[in-house]
Amino acid sequence: MTSLSTETPRERGEDGPRGGREPARRGAPGAAEEPEAAIRLAGLAKTYGTGKGRPALDTVDLVIPRGSLFGLLGPNGAGKSTLINILAGLVLKSAGKAVIWGIDIDEAPRQARAAIGIVPQELNIDPFFTPRELLDLHAGFYGVPRRERRTDELLATLGLTDKATAPARTLSGGMRRRLMVAKAMVHAPPVLVLDEPTAGFDVELRLQLWAHVRELNARGTTVLLTTHYLEEAEELCDRIAIIDRGRLVVAERTEVLLRRLDDKSLTIATAEHVTSVPAALAGFRVEIAAPGRLVFRYRPSRTRLAELLDAVRASGLTIVDLSTTEADLQDVFLRLTGSAAIARARP
Ligand code: ADP
Ligand code: MG
Repeated sequence: MTSLSTETPRERGEDGPRGGREPARRGAPGAAEEPEAAIRLAGLAKTYGTGKGRPALDTVDLVIPRGSLFGLLGPNGAGKSTLINILAGLVLKSAGKAVIWGIDIDEAPRQARAAIGIVPQELNIDPFFTPRELLDLHAGFYGVPRRERRTDELLATLGLTDKATAPARTLSGGMRRRLMVAKAMVHAPPVLVLDEPTAGFDVELRLQLWAHVRELNARGTTVLLTTHYLEEAEELCDRIAIIDRGRLVVAERTEVLLRRLDDKSLTIATAEHVTSVPAALAGFRVEIAAPGRLVFRYRPSRTRLAELLDAVRASGLTIVDLSTTEADLQDVFLRLTGSAAIARARP
């Protein structure tokens, strides 16, 4: 139940003496050069409390390429918020390195923080401000000069123009979340981080937020979001990392990951009491589960169901019943997180 302060003691200590040596946020030599990696984590670890318990984050190495729409997927308690909060400067890491937009969070914490906009898991919006006031106020916090503010553009991008002058308490849950996204973007950070942005949303709200996130990404913002919905990561993200019990299980391009999951099974009951695979079907991945019960494994992207059925008929068998199963999202997740054991066993 540690309460998270926005300014960690360590950062306060470092900001003073080192502040003057940090490069200016904009216009510094090399600032125009955009890093390949929006975020780079090496051996990042966190153990809460006395440091003796199980790590919430366990030596995570991860690169989030510039321009990507990156999904950090994992069940509750996996360590997603811990990772995000380390980036936000809200949680002190126990070990490892985190570099945001080329800036090491230990060397230049303020600079690093200025490079990201964070939408935390919990909504905290003052109900009495209007969206326009809130964004202006927040831009003020960040020292964004008036002429550089993009309040109206942000309101429009997040679909809040109509509500610009309505008190935040009158906004729906979906609108509030979008206002949080706008708030995170007032200082035009190159990286936007959203912690479970659609948790508790119905399908329609989810789709709306996805559209806004896609738009921000299309305009050049690198997006890192956490989710416990595999579908969300699949549909929205171009890359997915799966995290489980503090360990990174896999990080891949979405299509590569999906190809791995391209696996279905077809169970066929035949009138004949076959007890061994007929020679005509030897070319398939098929097993006899019980007499007269054949189970095929196939990749839907390569093999059509009709092809399998034709082959069974051609082998002289009579199909009396059939069913297909697809690893459902939970299965898939379990299968992948099950492989964490393998990763853990490696040195
Ligand atoms: P996720 O966001 O994936 O649900 P969290 O990062 O919130 O996971 O939590 C990871 C683990 O760390 C969990 O076991 C959680 O109970 C623990 N944890 C999170 N925040 C704190 C905290 N402030 N103090 C102690 N333990 C915490
Ligand atoms: Mg969380």
